[in-house]
Amino acid sequence: MDHFLYRDGALHAEDIAIAEIAQAVGTPFYCYSTATLERHFSVLDQSLADAGLEDRLICYSVKANSNIAVIATLAKLGAGADIVSQGEMVRALKAGIEPSKIVFSGVGKTADEMHAALEAGILQFNVESLSEIDMLAEVAKGMGKRAQVALRVNPDIDAGTHEKISTGKAENKFGIAWEDAEAGFAHVQTLEGVEARGIDIHIGSQITDTEPFRLAFEKVAGLLARLREKGHVIDRLDLGGGLGVPYARDNEPPLDPTVYANLIADILGDKGCTIMLEPGRLIAANAGVLVTSVIRAKQGRAKNFMIVDAAMTELMRPTLYGAYHDIKPVKEMEADALVWDVVGPVCESGDFLGQDRSLPVPDEGDLLAVFAAGAYGAVLGSSYNTRPAAPEVLVSGHRFAVVRARPDYEAMLERESLPDWV
Ligand SMILES: *Cc1c(COP(=O)(O)O)cnc(C)c1O
Repeated sequence: MDHFLYRDGALHAEDIAIAEIAQAVGTPFYCYSTATLERHFSVLDQSLADAGLEDRLICYSVKANSNIAVIATLAKLGAGADIVSQGEMVRALKAGIEPSKIVFSGVGKTADEMHAALEAGILQFNVESLSEIDMLAEVAKGMGKRAQVALRVNPDIDAGTHEKISTGKAENKFGIAWEDAEAGFAHVQTLEGVEARGIDIHIGSQITDTEPFRLAFEKVAGLLARLREKGHVIDRLDLGGGLGVPYARDNEPPLDPTVYANLIADILGDKGCTIMLEPGRLIAANAGVLVTSVIRAKQGRAKNFMIVDAAMTELMRPTLYGAYHDIKPVKEMEADALVWDVVGPVCESGDFLGQDRSLPVPDEGDLLAVFAAGAYGAVLGSSYNTRPAAPEVLVSGHRFAVVRARPDYEAMLERESLPDWV
């Protein structure tokens, strides 16, 4: 459930008309809802509590939406952070996430990043290869520290999701191969600078079925038992993120958080481990819309195009993943018989937000909302075609604040310079 609803025919974010925000900040812009972010976090947290999982930590996956105001909203609810770069760590810390609630994921952590994270005192490194473990042990030892790690293992499970967001199959670059997992833990025991605390998995994103999770959790339970038999002390299970969300407004959530929480509790709840989760999309996707205005309509022979001022530079998911996002007029109107491709001004045929959509014939300047744009929207943005990054707005009740401003052209060119030979 989200807080983007029509009232008297006008789309609102919580208690503010979207049109009012558009008037103030111009289009395109992202609009996030505080109440929705809070609700998504709380529903998941409460489901885990209700399933009896007392010892738990939800580390919000910062890469889904890394605006510091969004992270801070979740920090206030007690969220930790899952980061994949030093830059994301800087954001998480600035937003008020305690270092003791930060986990560092990703296949390509550099020695410098490891150093910075150890200095900050983060909770855990989720390590993805033996060579990474060696590097981390070296860096930590050099600092007189011992890094706490979880080994990200690859359970070789088909999450049944899009190939570009599937991560848990043997051919993906992520994690330590399932067959090598026990050797990995044995290797950690030989090193001074690292201490193995947990097993970590993350099998993919936009997973809409419980079955891949069940299979993965069962494999984790098996591995945990084998490791404990060999004397390893494991007290954390990091089960990653990946819960799917509805991208069409009328659809039910594909996975019920209660069912997911009960599944965890049934398979892994009695192991004496802290259960850690890394949800991103589940928290942020439906907490944001991308608001755009119509530049012009172009009725062609083969297709009708609605050319809008947002583009693949603001929302890459349609062209990158073939993703569907609902698109609706901000002022409620009946759709005509006409079918449109909603496209941006960027010079790429792949620049579209939606294809073959029934929408009313627009007037110039009409506002449209592209839904479920709160995750993997702004963070995947680019300034291709020298388009200024769209501002981000956070709403709370009757209030809104610009939490990232639109740069002017001078600011965009600030870091460029002419060498003395031109
Ligand atoms: C991207 C990612 C997540 C978040 O995935 P969602 O599908 O957005 O929940 C969690 N953990 C890791 C390691 C990731 O790379």
